[in-house]
This record gives sequence, structure tokens and C-alpha cells, in this order.
Amino acid sequence: MTYRAPINDMLLALNHGAGLQAALKAGHYGDFDGDITAAVLEEAGKFATDMLAPLNRIGDEQGIKLADGKVTTAPGWPDAYQRWIAAGWNAVSGPEAFGGQGLPLAINAACTEIWSASNVAFGLCPLLTLSAIEALDAHGSDELKRIYLEKLVSGEWTGTMQLTEPQAGSDVGALRTRAERTSDGSYRIKGTKIFITYGDHDMTDNIVHFVLARLPDAPASTKGISLFLIPKFLVNADGSLGARNDIYASGIEHKLGMHAAPTCTMTMGDQGGAIGYLIGEENRGMLCMFTMMNQARLAVGLEGVGIADRAYQQALAFAQERKQGRAVGKKGDGMDAIIVHPDVKRMLMQMRSLTAAARTICYATAVALDVSVRAKDAKVRADAAARGALLTPIAKAFSTDIGNEVAYLGVQIHGGMGFIEETGAAQHSRDARITSIYEGTNGIQSIDLVTRKLAANGGAAVWTLLGELTEIVIRVETSNDPAFGTTGAKLRDALNSLDRTSRWLLERVASAPNEALAGATPYLRLFGSTLGGCMLAGEALAARDAGDGNGDPQRYVTLARFFAENMTVQAASLEKTVMDGADAVNGADAVLLG
Ligand SMILES: Cc1cc2nc3c(=O)[nH]c(=O)nc-3n(C[C@H](O)[C@H](O)[C@H](O)COP(=O)(O)OP(=O)(O)OC[C@H]3O[C@@H](n4cnc5c(N)ncnc54)[C@H](O)[C@@H]3O)c2cc1C
Repeated sequence: MTYRAPINDMLLALNHGAGLQAALKAGHYGDFDGDITAAVLEEAGKFATDMLAPLNRIGDEQGIKLADGKVTTAPGWPDAYQRWIAAGWNAVSGPEAFGGQGLPLAINAACTEIWSASNVAFGLCPLLTLSAIEALDAHGSDELKRIYLEKLVSGEWTGTMQLTEPQAGSDVGALRTRAERTSDGSYRIKGTKIFITYGDHDMTDNIVHFVLARLPDAPASTKGISLFLIPKFLVNADGSLGARNDIYASGIEHKLGMHAAPTCTMTMGDQGGAIGYLIGEENRGMLCMFTMMNQARLAVGLEGVGIADRAYQQALAFAQERKQGRAVGKKGDGMDAIIVHPDVKRMLMQMRSLTAAARTICYATAVALDVSVRAKDAKVRADAAARGALLTPIAKAFSTDIGNEVAYLGVQIHGGMGFIEETGAAQHSRDARITSIYEGTNGIQSIDLVTRKLAANGGAAVWTLLGELTEIVIRVETSNDPAFGTTGAKLRDALNSLDRTSRWLLERVASAPNEALAGATPYLRLFGSTLGGCMLAGEALAARDAGDGNGDPQRYVTLARFFAENMTVQAASLEKTVMDGADAVNGADAVLLG
């Protein structure tokens, strides 16, 4: 089954739930014309349906090949990539000074969802290029920008992001790849990186690697890491491609999912060392890398949303076709489509509402990041930066967790056929699995949320957000619309749980860090499901009051109600898990090592 971008849902989420329209009205987007948003998404949706969705299965089945140090992608992939960049999709939010269209990150976020939904292994390639663009634009020298940025922005060359080594995964500070200064100002890099996405491929003439390495006199840990740009082919003064650089794919991984996206072992230094150029300052590589990682974390969250939506669309179609049993109370012969059964409806609603909540959280993160650089007022920019920082780990971890859950439910709705590869439901589940692991595991995201984002300025960013969410709940309550059921009360309870849990954690981050760390993952879930519930209610109000969402407000009210009454209600038990569960977690050695 193919994929169709849910444009009305996306626009409602972007404009209302995520606050794009309010930010436009406040003038934070300068002269950007919000009216073009729908047209951009329509075109992206068409491209995805026609070109990318049909290649999703082919890529999964055929995978990639490595021979003589060269990686070959699945049939049709290089051609699709060339068409995709020719249509300008890589340049949507790229800097205008280097040929980009300069559109908001929020628009590109919606496009990223579309690429991920239609073909997540394909979308993973430009996802990393965009992060590389951001790091180079923010920290690179004028010379490096002049040579590399335009080609990266257009997509003529792709980028990689190389942190991981066998002994350095979550603990990036343990990396050992070495960089030595040379007399011409460049560096020679030697070492091995593992798990490098699109480390080599045949879709472009050149690949620009962004590699973390350590200078001989560097301090230990993350304080001694520098970021280097290492092109696959060196670039001559006239811009043409020169000699092959000493960086090669020496192996590829055989994976649970994402078969079409190469995951390479990269070896540097077999021929004297790869020629690399410093980005930013020596030993300040983590700062540059964080620029890349925040953008990439949001984009990986959008992979979760995209896979979830694809799995939902497919499960919905299956549930309308597959006949088993009869609706309760229905008489006579024959069977009904399984969608009549309350348990199937429950699964479909869970899939759809979780997807919608995660979508809005991701889009809201993108709007905050946009405003943090686009708004004229410094205070507005600073507040938006704090909001973007707070939301990034939630966007990444909540959305990829739900990507997995929704894809899992998609398999369940297909019954036995879900376990059979030909339906495609299993592929979504396999592809989703990595999203909660790479770009910082979801456990690491939760720790970031508690120890850095919640703790910043005594929780100021959290209290401001809770205030805004309370406003939405008041509007639901005063709407007196019976269609909302107990939505207002459920959201209010959840906000109280989130408030109490945040204060409890804030107290312990410094005084009892192991207690705070034990509750980090359930806290992130509590945060995501409360935030998502309030945002969906806000969208339902907008659909009702402003007539947005294709003039079908009932659909959005019911969706928000389902989420509040079935999903957000977990907040109370998550609060207990965080506050009452920490002791047993920290006493676990008696069980695990006893
Ligand atoms: C398909 C694929 C593509 C990838 N692409 C890239 C890429 O392009 N570039 C790149 O650099 N890397 C890439 N990676 C690597 C990926 O980012 C790492 O696998 C990930 O960061 C986790 O590191 P690890 O595998 O070493 O796990 P570990 O760090 O060993 O973690 C194992 C478990 O321990 C937990 N853990 C670790 N430390 C802590 C802690 N301090 N507190 C609490 N829990 C902790 C983790 O959450 C996890 O559950 C890719 C990996 C895969 C599989």
C-alpha cells in the first residue's frame, strides 16, 4: 500500500498545535509568506508518493552491496536521489547565501516527516547532510564554507556524521581517532569509526565526512575533541574533484531494518592519513557537534512520526478490508471488516493519536528553533532557544518510542499477515527500531531532559510551558462542549502530575542524582503524553473555532478526547513510578548481581 501525506492534519498541527501561525502573526518569521506552506507540503507529498514510496520495499529487499571499497545502493535509488535534489528538496531550509531557499525549519520538519513516512532509509541520507550544513554554516571558516556549503545545500554532495567507535558509543569522550597537525594548516586523521550512516554510496560524486578526532596534546574526555571536515575526494582550486582521500568504507553492517541505508565501518589512515580540515577551534569539537546533533535529534524524532503515520495508514486500510467475526448485536450471515471491533478501533485510535501528538511536539520544537534565530527581539530569541532545548529530547525520544509502538500495533492489526514480510507492516517495525537507539539513545535523551533541560534556570522553561498548557485546558473546560467528554479534567490532572514530578526531580538532580536518573525515562514519557494531550486539545479547539483541519472539527475533538482519556491518564501512574520507584531501581544490585 502506498503512502499519502495527511496534509490537513499536518497543517493543523503546524499552524495551531505548534504555534506557527501565532509566531507569524507576532512577526517572528519576518517576511516569510505562511500561505505557501500548504503548496510546499502538497508538492512534497506528491514526490513522496510517486518516487520514494515505491522504492521503500525494493530497498528493504535488495539492501546495499560493498565491493572493492565501494558501496552500491538498491536499484532506482541514485536516480531517485538525483530527481529529489533537482526538485530542490535538499535546499528547502538551507541558507540563502549558499543557494538554499531559506524556508523555516518548521516547513522542512514537515517535509522530513513526509520523506521518512514514504521511505525512511532514503530520508536518512539528507537528514545527516542537513545537520552537516548547519554545523559548517555555524562554525566553519569562510574558506571551507565557500568550497563545500553550496554543494551540500543543493545535495550535489552528501554529508556524514562520524562519532562512534567500538569503545565510544554513548560515551563519545572515549574516542581515540587521532588527528595530527601538518605544516600547511590541514590535519592528517587516522582511526576507525563504526556504524557510519551513508559512509559510502553511489548517489553522489563526493561525500563530505564530519569526523570527531583527538589531537596528540588534547585533554582527556570530551574536552579534547575536535571536529574535522574530510572529503571523500579532495577538491581542486577550480572546484573540480581531485585525488581520492584516505577514508574508505571497510565494512557494512547487516541490520534488523533500514536495509537500504548503508551503515559503514570507516577506516582512515591506511595510506598515511586522511586529509582533514578543522571546523571551529581545536578541542571545541563537541560544541560544533551539538549544533549538528540537536538538528539531527529533531529529525530522528520526525522519522518516528513518519514511520508511525505510514504504519497507521496501512493498518487502517487493512482493517477496512479484512473480514473476521461480526459486530456485536449484528444478525444474519456473513462477516464484518475487523474495524467494527472495539479492540481494533482502540488500536487504530492509539496509533493515530500517538502519531498526531508526536507530530505536534516535533513541529513545536522546530518552530521554537526557528524563532530562536529569526525573531528580532533578543528576549524572544532567548526564550525560544530555551523552549527548543527543552523540547528537543522529548521530540527525539517520545516520537521514536511511539514510532516503535505504533509500528508494533500495525503488525498486531494485521494478525498473522503482519508477521509475513509481504504486507510491509513488519518492515515498518524493523525500520523503527533503530530510531530510539541512534542520535543518542532514548535513555540518554531522558537524562538530558532531567539533568540539563529541566534543571536549567531552576526549571524556568518548564514552568513557562506548563502555564501555556494550562491556558489550553481552561479553554477546553470553558468551551462546555460535551464532545470533549472529560478531556479538560484529565489534562488538568496530568498537568498537576507533571508539575509535582518536575519539582520532585529538580530537588534531587543535585542532592540525590541516582534517584533523579532512575526516573528519567518515565518522566520523559509523562512529559510527552501530557504535552501531546494538551497540544491535541489545542488543535481540536482551533479546528472547531477557526474551521481549520478541512472543516471537520469533530474528528479532531474525538481524537483529542481519546488521547486525554486513554493515553494522558498514564500521567498519574508515571508520577508514582518516578517518585516511588527510584528506591527499588537503585536497590537493583541485590537482584541483578546477587
Ligand atoms: C544503524 C545505525 C546507524 C548509526 N549511524 C551512526 C552515524 O551515522 N554516526 C555515528 O557516529 N554513529 C552512528 N550510530 C551509532 C549510534 O549512535 C550508537 O549506536 C548509539 O549512540 C549508542 O551507542 P552504543 O551502540 O555504543 O551503545 P552504548 O553506549 O554501549 O549503550 C548501551 C546501552 O546502555 C545505555 N547507556 C549507556 N551509557 C549510559 C549512561 N551514562 N546512563 C544511562 N544509560 C546508559 C544506553 O542507553 C543503551 O541502552 C549508528 C548506529 C546504528 C546501529
